[in-house]
Amino acid sequence: MRRRLGFVAVLALAALVATWWWRSRPRSATESAPNVLLIAVDTLRADRLGSLGNARGLTPNLDRLAANGALYSRAYSHAPWTLPSFASMFTSQVPQEHGAGGRVGDFRGLAAAHDTLAERFQSAGYATGAIVNVDFLGRSYGLMQGFDAGEIDERFYDDNARLRDARETTDAALGYLDRHRDEAFLLLAHYFDPHARYAPPPEYRARFADPRDQQGSAFDFGAREQVVLWRARKLQPSVDDFQRAEKLYDAEVAYTDAEIGRLLAGLEARGLARKTLVVLVADHGEEFLDHGDWEHGHSLYDELLHVPLVFSQPGRLAPTRVDVPVGTIDLAPTLCAWCGVAPAATFRGRDLGPSLAGASLSPTPLLAFGNFWGPPLESVREPEWKLIESTMSAGRTLQLFRADEDPRELRDRANSDVDARDRLSSDLALLRRVLAARARVGPPVRPTADERERLRGMGYVGGEDDDGR
Ligand SMILES: [Zn+2]
Repeated sequence: MRRRLGFVAVLALAALVATWWWRSRPRSATESAPNVLLIAVDTLRADRLGSLGNARGLTPNLDRLAANGALYSRAYSHAPWTLPSFASMFTSQVPQEHGAGGRVGDFRGLAAAHDTLAERFQSAGYATGAIVNVDFLGRSYGLMQGFDAGEIDERFYDDNARLRDARETTDAALGYLDRHRDEAFLLLAHYFDPHARYAPPPEYRARFADPRDQQGSAFDFGAREQVVLWRARKLQPSVDDFQRAEKLYDAEVAYTDAEIGRLLAGLEARGLARKTLVVLVADHGEEFLDHGDWEHGHSLYDELLHVPLVFSQPGRLAPTRVDVPVGTIDLAPTLCAWCGVAPAATFRGRDLGPSLAGASLSPTPLLAFGNFWGPPLESVREPEWKLIESTMSAGRTLQLFRADEDPRELRDRANSDVDARDRLSSDLALLRRVLAARARVGPPVRPTADERERLRGMGYVGGEDDDGR
């Protein structure tokens, strides 16, 4: 009897151990429920990609990714700067609804109540990790909700002359792959190098900078202090200065491309390529006098809103190109559907899955909102038209562009195509009313003393804003 009891106890113990082992066993990715490697390049204009027509040869690795995957030639961000744009990607909501963003001196974080892409993957059993290089993407602004606490790797600096550069970012991402290769994971790898200041490594400076700037670093452009002076109209670089700056920016793009190539090679070398969906996206672009201004955050023209969007998973996804306009709010529902993860009920974008498989996609109106430096701008886009509305102290102004024939938005047709203008303006007013009913106001972000010091170094606080808001 005692022996039988002992046998039962051993059996029970074995069952317990088996249950524990089953529960703690990492869930591995498969081809149909793959890992996600979300590569987000800060400040990358879509027109820098060779696959979208750039002739300078800046992005051979991104072009290979696009050639083997699904390239969305008309993908648009919903905001012209980092915080609201990433919040839109993660919540699948436009900034008017998710409420993160604000403006200089009154930044708003992402409310904890939001249901995000990373939270959906985390609750489905995925390991989630983030490598991020700017404050606005970090924990204090609410963007890291859903990422595993031990795998949030944040590094913040006031300009990219001192930041964790693309090489170190790739090293950090490869480290994550080594730690989690046997689990299903969602990894965000955020590259910050194309963001000002434009400080490419010597090899890329030598290849892509203006001939005057290929050796040494005598010409320096884009320090945060310069941005602030530029905004205050206390700095007036020449057109030649901007052209030189743009070539340094190109060199940063080329450097980032090479490091993304190294990350993708690392994915392949670890045997993860076929069971990992790779996504390339950017949060916004960068202006170099396209409309008389520089940097980003200040307008809703397409040099700031048009971003690269590529999906790739060898074996599961056949090469395709989609020319219908899509928004970055479509990312979260698409990733959830592709990986068999339940989407949040609050996601407003759509699953692009059918178009990844080659089906045609019907267009929907796309919104953008925000202005880092002042009262928000709003825009609405259809395949043929785009309307930008601004409400400044001088009153309401409307600009209308043919999105299909005039992608550089050089000819304002607000006074010549009055029917289209009024129709889009009325659509925007209707959407504004709907969104106002759903809108959430993001919590104000109170910087710590250290953060305040860093913001002051960047020119974001000081003088009348010295309370650190
Ligand atoms: Zn950004």
